Amino acid sequence: MMNYQAIKNGIKSSPAFVLDETEVIKNLKILAGLRNQCGYKILYSLKALPLSAVTEIAKPFVDGFSVSSLFEARLADEILAGQGSIHLTTPGIRQDEWEDMTRLITHISFNSITQYQRFATATQAQISIGLRVNPKLSFLNDNRFDPCRQNSKLGVDIDDLWQSSYLDQVKGLHFHNAFSATDFTPLIKTIEKLRSYFGKNLAQLDWLNLGGGYLFEEIEDYSPFIELVNKLKNDFAIEVYIEPGKAVVGNAGYIVTTVLDSFMSDGKNIVILDTSVNHNPEVFEYQRQPELHERDSSGQYSAILAGCTCLAGDVFGEYRFKEPLQTGDKLIFKNIGAYSLIKANRFNGYNLPDIYVCKSAQTTKIKQYTYQDYRRQWLPDE
Ligand SMILES: *Cc1c(COP(=O)(O)O)cnc(C)c1O
Repeated sequence: MMNYQAIKNGIKSSPAFVLDETEVIKNLKILAGLRNQCGYKILYSLKALPLSAVTEIAKPFVDGFSVSSLFEARLADEILAGQGSIHLTTPGIRQDEWEDMTRLITHISFNSITQYQRFATATQAQISIGLRVNPKLSFLNDNRFDPCRQNSKLGVDIDDLWQSSYLDQVKGLHFHNAFSATDFTPLIKTIEKLRSYFGKNLAQLDWLNLGGGYLFEEIEDYSPFIELVNKLKNDFAIEVYIEPGKAVVGNAGYIVTTVLDSFMSDGKNIVILDTSVNHNPEVFEYQRQPELHERDSSGQYSAILAGCTCLAGDVFGEYRFKEPLQTGDKLIFKNIGAYSLIKANRFNGYNLPDIYVCKSAQTTKIKQYTYQDYRRQWLPDE
């Protein structure tokens, strides 16, 4: 359990993104423990948070990384230095990057048949070729992050794959159709569907990549998962990969922010923070209210927490508190380790947060962006 007061005391600047290294290790130990029980392989999905503090911790626990672009592949290659596999899947393979890409990756799951046709023959022999399949099973009622939505751009339609002979030509299949799932129902249903379509033909494959999207640390009973993976390995003699992102860093990231101002607007208390949706764009993209450590749902005060940019909708939401908030108070947003910092920007000229790591109540600043970083972004190359 995070010591919030120690964090607040340890932070010498605000806003701050704090990575709790102890929590990252705990998450990775869960995944590694499961690996002991079913022998799957773990790829950390770099896109969630490619911070070196995370990748260095992850390296001894994982079997490789899953990447979506040339930059991610380069980063993964630098970190692994040949000691692990790099799996790529993306709708956006570029002709002009393909040669560089093939020197870095070990596995590819082509996103479409046309992509496969265009690039498979120009793929070096040592790269294991697979396809991303769209199992056409939606477990979300929000189109914005449902890979199996109508007219999906992600993966080869399972019916098309079944009617074609492409399965016979590839070494692996990949799917990713869950989002922050806290039980294994989506996975069980998806595997059932794959089995009913392809049956014994799955044994022709070398590997099956189950994607990410499961919050392992929030799931209590792993036995259905262990059983499923063991059965896949027994029935088809294939390697099974998972590629978690949020399960590794989601609960390990915090933003510490300071109250800049507080006033009334149409009868409600508006509290302006020194952070904004710039630092956590999913709050605005998905209109999602982030968790706040200080929230007290039975508290008698309420306030609308708002970001400091000029965007009217730069608002975190209405929260209740035991005490009214004062200028200078520090607050902690939690559970925002994944997909926050990686999407952060400097809109309005507000700096990115300083970055801290904490380990057993010891908090250390590891990075601070400056005016020069902002300025350089807008200057032409020298
Ligand atoms: C984003 C993504 C992941 C990681 O998802 P999490 O929800 O962070 O676990 C894994 N695989 C693919 C293909 C992805 O797009």
